[in-house]
Amino acid sequence: MRNHDFDFFVIGGGSGGVRAARMAAQRGARVALAECAELGGTCVNVGCIPKKLYSYAAGYAEAFEEAAGYGWDLGERHFDWARLKAHRAREIQRLNGVYGSLLEGAGVTVIQGWAQLSDAHTVLVNDSAFTAQHILIATGGMPFVPELPGREHIVVSDAMFDLDPFPKRLLVVGGGYIACEFASIFNGLGAQVTQLQRNAHLLNGFDEDVREFLAKEMTRAGVDIRFNSEIASIRQLDSGLCATLARGQRIEADVILAATGRVPNTQGLGLEAAGVALDERGGVIVDAHYRSSVPSVYAVGDVSTRQQLTPVALAEAMAVVDALFGKGRRHLDYEYTPTAVFTHPNVGTCGLTETEARIKFDDKVTIFSSEFRALRHTLSESKERTFMKLVVDKASDRVVGLHMVGAEAGEIVQGFAVAMRAGATKAMFDSTIGIHPTVAEEFVTMREPMPG
Ligand SMILES: Cc1cc2nc3c(=O)[nH]c(=O)nc-3n(C[C@H](O)[C@H](O)[C@H](O)COP(=O)(O)OP(=O)(O)OC[C@H]3O[C@@H](n4cnc5c(N)ncnc54)[C@H](O)[C@@H]3O)c2cc1C
Repeated sequence: MRNHDFDFFVIGGGSGGVRAARMAAQRGARVALAECAELGGTCVNVGCIPKKLYSYAAGYAEAFEEAAGYGWDLGERHFDWARLKAHRAREIQRLNGVYGSLLEGAGVTVIQGWAQLSDAHTVLVNDSAFTAQHILIATGGMPFVPELPGREHIVVSDAMFDLDPFPKRLLVVGGGYIACEFASIFNGLGAQVTQLQRNAHLLNGFDEDVREFLAKEMTRAGVDIRFNSEIASIRQLDSGLCATLARGQRIEADVILAATGRVPNTQGLGLEAAGVALDERGGVIVDAHYRSSVPSVYAVGDVSTRQQLTPVALAEAMAVVDALFGKGRRHLDYEYTPTAVFTHPNVGTCGLTETEARIKFDDKVTIFSSEFRALRHTLSESKERTFMKLVVDKASDRVVGLHMVGAEAGEIVQGFAVAMRAGATKAMFDSTIGIHPTVAEEFVTMREPMPG
């Protein structure tokens, strides 16, 4: 190992890269990390964190509305977009510093610049070559924008956090979780939001009832969702941008966001020349231990196109570090990975959708579901409703799917995910005493299965 400059060279200082570099260094490895932008990657700079902060900001609009029913008279309200942006930027800068200190504290050599692989053991950064026994590709993903006339007028999610001025009219193209979240956030902050989805539902891959319920709730909250609608072209007018849809309708907007998927960030990395095999989307092909077709090169996180989530990138990074510098190889289990969508209201989900479960268990599943107005909204007069659903495998009685649309769904589902990974059955859910009065208690009090 000592013949190389480093034991471990990490390309990309995002969720997966920082975790891998820091943990490997703490285990005594000589580690370098190259990052071409700010430390923290997508999640910290233009993903999970700023998005959740803006989601909180949007939530105040609802809270102010609801406060009257609880006896509060609030004076005139004014939303200061510039102040929110400045406060977000300050917090993100703080987090960039925290990441830098963590790496420095662990003894990682941080190299600022664009890194490229030149062979199985060599990385080039700023014209300097560094050799390493093992190399980790953790370069994440980037937004994909479809080809269409006027594409240059489109913005991607990275740009949404610093828009200037605040868009009075926002057109969101896409129906995935990023599209839904930005539609909800900007709707809450006061923009007039139209969302175009080319098929008939939001949130591909989520439970069908969840998708339908969320669409109803987002519509009720004011988002104009147009299903089976595809954008064909965009023109600049004096009054703003004008999107023409495939069927000819026109929609004017100040900003058009394309949230139409993300692709692995592998262009210009020299991977193919070094012999690293990529899939048809450009993602690094890895085995169950995150090793690419070149044995010294590994890849984790969004660049290898598994579940594109920060906690997944972190878990994969730890698996690589354990395999190379410590506890030995182990398999990550992606089943029952919980996830949330920070729309208003939130979506929280864990395990199989009803359709997936019906396929897997030969239709032998029992469904429990409930829709209600949360106690909080009896006085707030908000029309928001909550939806909860359990999917149970009849043969084993195991709860194989748990889904929710409602306030704090992400917080609620996280706890249930532990029980589900532990193999909790419906009988165990039933024997669990609820916490009253909460929304979450509904998950342990649903007794009547849905007919059929
Ligand atoms: C709008 C949005 C919201 C999201 N919300 C959530 C959420 O709520 N929850 C969740 O779990 N996930 C969320 N995600 C996904 C999450 O951000 C990613 O799954 C996660 O960041 C992936 O981590 P990573 O390490 O693979 O890559 P990244 O965090 O993207 O890090 C890659 C890093 O590599 C650097 N880089 C790239 N190429 C080079 C190079 N050649 N040389 C040097 N450096 C390079 C980049 O600058 C970047 O810093 C969201 C993503 C987006 C876009």
